[in-house]
Amino acid sequence: MKHPNLTIQAMFDPAQFATLGHALIETLVQHLEANLSGASKVLDWQDPASEDLHWQAPLPHRPTLDQNALFTKLESILKHNLAIHHPHNMGHQVSSPLPLAALCDMVAALTNQAMAVYEAGPSATMLERQVIRWLCALINEHTWGNAGGVLTSGGAQANLTALLVARQVTLSRHPKSHNIWKEGMTDALKLCILASEHAHYSISRAAGIMGMGTDSVIKVATNKQGQLDVNALIKAHQACVKNGAIVMAVVANAGCTPSGSIDPLLSIGEYAQAHGLWFHVDGAHGASTLLSSLHRDRLKGISLADSVVWDGHKLMYMPAAISAVLFKEEQHSFAAFNQEASYLFQGESHQDETFNTSYRTLECTKRMMALKLWAAFSMYGIDGMGSLVDEAYVKAQLFAEKIKALPQFELLMWPETNIVCFRYLEVGLIPDLLNQHQSKIRQHIIQSGEFHLTQVDLHGLTWLRTTLMNPFTTAQDLDDLLKAVNDASQASLAN
Ligand SMILES: *Cc1c(COP(=O)(O)O)cnc(C)c1O
Repeated sequence: MKHPNLTIQAMFDPAQFATLGHALIETLVQHLEANLSGASKVLDWQDPASEDLHWQAPLPHRPTLDQNALFTKLESILKHNLAIHHPHNMGHQVSSPLPLAALCDMVAALTNQAMAVYEAGPSATMLERQVIRWLCALINEHTWGNAGGVLTSGGAQANLTALLVARQVTLSRHPKSHNIWKEGMTDALKLCILASEHAHYSISRAAGIMGMGTDSVIKVATNKQGQLDVNALIKAHQACVKNGAIVMAVVANAGCTPSGSIDPLLSIGEYAQAHGLWFHVDGAHGASTLLSSLHRDRLKGISLADSVVWDGHKLMYMPAAISAVLFKEEQHSFAAFNQEASYLFQGESHQDETFNTSYRTLECTKRMMALKLWAAFSMYGIDGMGSLVDEAYVKAQLFAEKIKALPQFELLMWPETNIVCFRYLEVGLIPDLLNQHQSKIRQHIIQSGEFHLTQVDLHGLTWLRTTLMNPFTTAQDLDDLLKAVNDASQASLAN
């Protein structure tokens, strides 16, 4: 089949796809090998303004069909990005993705199953349902027997989805109930969300989007381990009730963003259940602990949740974006966006819409996300996937031990997952300067391209923050990072 327009023919030509595809795989193989071996810099730092200039170009008009020029550019793109598989990449909670999953994403892109309704991706829909069943079974095979949910692009959106459901369900049970989806917020209605002070910003953002105001998120204090303090939660709940506010959700972290701490899910869940409160677990980062037979007990109580968010592109080693928003009662998942057809208000069955995922997500068209996770489970099993989690958690413990053994460093806390926060104690610096000193150390290291790490402010102190999730980071790499911090400290004092 040849198209009469030569450009269009070239755009779709399977033979050209093959040539380009083989060359691309070759390039990516070399990129992966170089990354894993740590040969290059983890980040080839350029300041954003000059990088911006470098990319400015006139909008191309004529087809060039010049693959060589494209590849030259591609190599530059690869070089100027963060080397995600580099053993010194330990900054953000972003996976070094499984190459298998990257290949699956290419399949998803080429086949472009829109997913909004069943017929726009029949197997894509079923793969998603299967992956969701697997994740629910990992939470609890028995008590999550009626569970369900959907995949969506990112934990932030997944949290919004869960909180929309929480509000809808909470109000449907409340005497002051009105049809909030249709009529919106009213002045008389005071809603609040009780969340850990370490809750991800997407929780406040969701409250803003939902028209409740970000002030409606009551930040509950945490203990030294960064875990939500249950007594503080109880007090906050009582205060809300006294003020005539309706608590629409209690949000706990299974792996909070700053330090990876896991809240006491069992106690929180029992309290929420006893008081009829919606219990949401933000497990974007740490729900993957369930994959590890060594560590899964740390999430004891997660099955008490009404909703759970779980990111695939963090500790399940998927390329972004793939997140699951899971509900203990599958029927609840219909309450987020489709109040008209909701069982809550009409008492109707949703059987007809069960297979049309767009009823339950903000997204209409979305990617066939499930393929990559389904393939990873199929190829590597829970044991294989869990070994990645074990590897990350063991390394975090090892790193914490190393920090603890050196007097010039302070460890924030023993890591509960794979996030390790620490600071360099330069003697003689007043607290403010010591905080700035951490930022300077980080800037120095990042710009040198030696390591990638992040920083976090907690209760007025600045900490260097590492997320250890590259399986190829070795004990030697961790020693080298501490040495780099030492050196960067000396260098920034000298400046
Ligand atoms: C990463 C994270 C999020 C946000 O998820 P995205 O996938 O980045 O949108 C939300 N909550 C927690 C606890 C996270 O770690």
